[in-house]
Amino acid sequence: MHWRVVVERGDPSGFVQRCVIAHVERSGLPSKSEVGLNHDEVKLVLRALQSVMVTGQIQEFADAARPCVGCGRTRVLKEHRRRHLDALFGRIAVPAPSLERCCCRQANQASSVSTLLPYRTTPEVRHLRAKACAQMSYRKAADLLNIFLPTLSISHYSTTRNRLLRAGQAIEDELRGSVEHEQAAAGPVESMVVGIDGAFVKLVPTEARRGDLDVIIGRIEVPGRQSEISAAVRDLEGHTRERLQATLRRAGRGPATRLVVLSDGEDEMRELPGRWLGSEQHHRLDWFHLCRRIERIGGALYYLPRIGSEKFRDRMRVYYRDLRRIKWRLWVRATRHGPWMITFSQFIAHLITHRNEALSAGISVQRIDNVLNRLDELRRHVLLNQRSLVDYGRL
Ligand SMILES: [Zn+2]
Repeated sequence: MHWRVVVERGDPSGFVQRCVIAHVERSGLPSKSEVGLNHDEVKLVLRALQSVMVTGQIQEFADAARPCVGCGRTRVLKEHRRRHLDALFGRIAVPAPSLERCCCRQANQASSVSTLLPYRTTPEVRHLRAKACAQMSYRKAADLLNIFLPTLSISHYSTTRNRLLRAGQAIEDELRGSVEHEQAAAGPVESMVVGIDGAFVKLVPTEARRGDLDVIIGRIEVPGRQSEISAAVRDLEGHTRERLQATLRRAGRGPATRLVVLSDGEDEMRELPGRWLGSEQHHRLDWFHLCRRIERIGGALYYLPRIGSEKFRDRMRVYYRDLRRIKWRLWVRATRHGPWMITFSQFIAHLITHRNEALSAGISVQRIDNVLNRLDELRRHVLLNQRSLVDYGRL
C-alpha cells in the first residue's frame, strides 16, 4: 500500500496551493513493525509540515515588510538569503531577503526573520527546553528532546544549558527593567489571587557559594487570564520584595485590586504577605496544606498500639470518624471556632483513654503521644491562623 500526505494552503482570495510532503510505503501484509507510522516517519512528516507552514508565514512577513513606509515604493531586493530557525518540529531554513535602502532615505523595518523571532527559535521551543531542564539534568533533557523532536540545534547538553541560562537572563533583565521603571498596570484587574510557598533548591557546593537556596514561589491567578508563576531567592530580601511587586503590577495589580494571598500558614508565610505586599491584601490559609496536615495524622493512626484482645478495628473506625469530623468542621465552618474545637477535644479524649489503657497494660505509648502531639500542633496552627480562615466549603 502507498500513502501520500498532501498539504493544501488556501489564501483569502480562494487560491489553493497543494504540495506533497511525504510518502509512506507498506508491503501488502504488514509485519508487527509495519503497523502504523513509526517514530522516524512521524518526525519526517511533522518536520515537512512545519517547514511548509513556517516558510509560508515568514515569506508573507517578508513580503509585507517590502514596501517603503515613507513613499510606498517596493524596495529593491539586494540578496536572497536564508536563515535557520528552530521551530518545534525541526530546524527550518526560512527566507530572509536583504533589501536595498529606499531612494527616499526613509529608515524601514528590516524584513529578516531575526526581527520577528530574535532568538531564531520559536517561543515554544524555548519554553519546552526550559521546562525539560527544570525537571532533569541538562544532559538528560538534551537526550530526551533529541529523541522526541526532529533534530534541532540541541544535540549537546552544553547547548541546552546555555540556552536555558539565556532564557533566565532575559527574564531577569525584563524584571529588572520593570523594577527600575515602575509602571502602573496597563489594565488594572478587579481581583487577584496569589498562592505563595517556600522551597529549597539544592546547590552543588562551589567555592563561590555553599548551602541551599531558599526560594519563594508565587502563582498569580487573575480571572480570565493565564496564570503566571514567579520565583525569587529569599536571601536578597530587598530585591525579592520589589520583584514580587513588579510581577504583580505586570499581572494587573492596580491600587484598587483586591488581592487574596494563599499560603500554608507557617510563621514566616503568615507574616510575609504583610511585609512584602502591603496592607491592602487578605491572607487566607490554603485548604490544600491544611488538608495535608490532617491526612498526615490519618497516616500515623495506623501504627497505634493494639492492647490485648481488643477489637482494634472498631477503635480505628472511631478514630478515623473523629478525624473526618475535624476535617468536615474545618471545611464547612472554619470561622466558627466552637464546633471544630469540640471535634478536636473528642478525638483527644479517645486517644487519652487509649493511652491510659496502654500504660496499665505496660505497652509503649510513644506512638499515641506522637499522634497527640500532631493533633495539638494542628490545633495550634489553625488557631494561629484564625484571621486567615474562611468557610472553605461555602466559597
Ligand atoms: Zn521610500
